[in-house]
Amino acid sequence: MTKDHDKLSDPALWSPDTQLVHGGVLRSQYGETSEALFLTQGFVYANSEEAEARFLNKSPGYQYSRFSNPTVAMFEERVRLMEGAEDCRSFATGMAAVTGAVLSCLNAGDHIVSARALFGSCRYIVEDLCPRFGIQSTLVDGRDLAQWEAAFRPNTKAVFFETPSNPTLEIVDIAAVCQIAHKHGAVVIVDNVFATPMLQKPLKLGADVVVYSATKHIDGQGRCLGGAVLASKQFIKDYLHDFHRQTGPALSPFNAWVMLKGLETLPIRVERQCASAAKLADHLAGLPGVSKVIYCGRKDHPQYDLAQRQMTGGGQIVTFEVAGGKEAAFRFLNALRIAKISNNLGDAKSLVTHPSTTTHQRLKPEARAELGISDGMIRLSVGLEAADDLALDLETGAKAARG
Ligand SMILES: *Cc1c(COP(=O)(O)O)cnc(C)c1O
Repeated sequence: MTKDHDKLSDPALWSPDTQLVHGGVLRSQYGETSEALFLTQGFVYANSEEAEARFLNKSPGYQYSRFSNPTVAMFEERVRLMEGAEDCRSFATGMAAVTGAVLSCLNAGDHIVSARALFGSCRYIVEDLCPRFGIQSTLVDGRDLAQWEAAFRPNTKAVFFETPSNPTLEIVDIAAVCQIAHKHGAVVIVDNVFATPMLQKPLKLGADVVVYSATKHIDGQGRCLGGAVLASKQFIKDYLHDFHRQTGPALSPFNAWVMLKGLETLPIRVERQCASAAKLADHLAGLPGVSKVIYCGRKDHPQYDLAQRQMTGGGQIVTFEVAGGKEAAFRFLNALRIAKISNNLGDAKSLVTHPSTTTHQRLKPEARAELGISDGMIRLSVGLEAADDLALDLETGAKAARG
């Protein structure tokens, strides 16, 4: 009894569902129920002595919303609790978070190893941006541990990957890659967006840094852009703290406030989306003209066992292929009445994407082929609509694809 009672006084020991509703709340003198929105750039001081003390870090409080803000601080603390991390910094977008995590810990002359199956903009950071600043990069097949091992050099300082990957849902063995990287003294940064914060805990598997686009499941209702980086206090202090303050990728208090409300419903939304995704993956596999279905929760996923080991669910994304290439895929998408054509994901609305002509258009055809992104491939982000309606919608699409 005493033990259970103690548990309630420490938010770190609450269950995730409780942390996501109450975690990090800073109540003002008015005792508001819902988190307050502090839409302010700066803060005023009672006198010059207080201002001086604040700038010397000797008086607690806020200075300027590029550094921190009470609403933003509530968001960071709630995400930190959810992830079980020591510290968190929030960003205006997921890409600002990725850029901050990667660039803040690297210098000219360093080397980064990354899985080649990456979100398009993440691949730009590693493949195009890093080399411009003298940071060499190597891309590997993230599924192949021998390639990871072979890619390390004496100056390799960081490893970056996402798992499952966009859009082909390739899985990287987080624990195994962390073991290799740490042997070589490299920091491991994981983009955990596709797994969602609910289904996979990279820090527990050995990763040093976790990155989110909060734009996806954390908002989950298509409104705001945002991002977060979670890491040890040491990593934030040594690398990210100054980078974040001085380069200015701060999350807007308004967006932080929207995201705080998103976090409250994150577990039930993701649970429902995953349940529908599992049903729809099986449904798609039975539709004529659908030549392939990739879903992390299906036994025919090539890395099903690994997915089962490091994820607690199959996820919210289903990727599939229709016979007949681009024309058939376009007929499929254009016939849908409920799922919308959009390159976003994690939304309450089901969204469908044709990766080869949108998110992965920038890649050379050979690079797309290497990643297994065919012209008939469609990525489905399953929303909160009734699964039966979505199943019917997909049947309509498949019928149109057959022509
Ligand atoms: C969307 C996304 C990003 C980028 O996030 P933004 O909020 O759009 O900047 C990065 N990685 C993955 C895996 C994503 O899905």
